Amino acid sequence: MTTTDGALHGTYRCPVCGHRDSIEVMPDAPAKRTKCSYCGAALDVTARSAETVNLDVKVAEEPVPG
Ligand SMILES: [Zn+2]
Repeated sequence: MTTTDGALHGTYRCPVCGHRDSIEVMPDAPAKRTKCSYCGAALDVTARSAETVNLDVKVAEEPVPG
């Protein structure tokens, strides 16, 4: 398997409801805004390292539009 453009596929756990979901993030990009598919909480997901799929998740201050 080869990765494209250095994108990382990782799994994060929603800090609000504990739901697990997968996401693709770029290691050099700012936090990726997403929304929990279970409780709808807006989340910012960042990759801590390009070598390990270790995602940092925090609740965003603003809801995701739409
Ligand atoms: Zn959630």
